[in-house]
Amino acid sequence: MNFSSAIPSTFLPIILSSPSGAGKTTLTHRLLERCPDLRFSVSHTTRSPRSNEVDGTDYHFVTRQAFEAKIAEGAFLEWAEVHGNLYGTSLSEITRTLAQPGCNGIIFDIDYQGARQIRAKMPDVITLFILPPSLVELEKRLRNRASETEESLRARFAAAKKEIEHYALFDYLILNDNLERAFDELRSIVIAEHARRPRRASLAESLLRHGAL
Ligand code: ADP
Ligand code: 5GP
Repeated sequence: MNFSSAIPSTFLPIILSSPSGAGKTTLTHRLLERCPDLRFSVSHTTRSPRSNEVDGTDYHFVTRQAFEAKIAEGAFLEWAEVHGNLYGTSLSEITRTLAQPGCNGIIFDIDYQGARQIRAKMPDVITLFILPPSLVELEKRLRNRASETEESLRARFAAAKKEIEHYALFDYLILNDNLERAFDELRSIVIAEHARRPRRASLAESLLRHGAL
């Protein structure tokens, strides 16, 4: 299915990816605070919630059995196995987001496998990859976050290099060596993408048609 026909031309779908610990949740939260017209796509996952996570806000936490039943129903726009758990974006999440008043874009925090699947179905999506400054710094951030067991931390760290090797799938690469600088870059990209001609054409047309220009 090609989703683009169902989505207004002004709408901005954004994929934000990175190896675990590079800073995409931190950057996403800041972006959502600063851009009230953007919404977060709440994924389904079979992993257990972290102590600070809220079901239905950070993720829809489900059992593997429930997740597999949703796959069988065709409920997902994309899904993938990441670090031993299943993660997916449901079609209903997008419909729900599009129906919200004032919503002009959606952020998908998903891995490169999901990015590849969404791009095939939504060619207008913009894709960003957050790079950590080094693997040493990445491990330090993962450890400082103190959210993982040693086993989970090792699985995430072991996958990081392979995930980074998929950087060429993405439109933009943001180096998160400094949070302020990385955020400014991310916000600038979002602002510029909103102003691209295909997204602004209907505004220009309308201003011309009504004699304002
Ligand atoms: P991800 O969502 O990519 O797994 P997080 O946003 O949870 O990563 O960030 C991992 C940890 O690194 C968090 O504790 C966060 O506060 C910290 N962090 C994020 N960006 C930076 C940065 N530029 N410098 C230092 N620490 C950072
Ligand atoms: P975490 O467990 O740290 O929240 O996420 C682990 C990885 O799963 C991250 O790379 C994150 O972007 C990815 N992820 C989260 N939700 C989805 C999703 O719906 N689909 C896919 N493909 N990956 C996801």
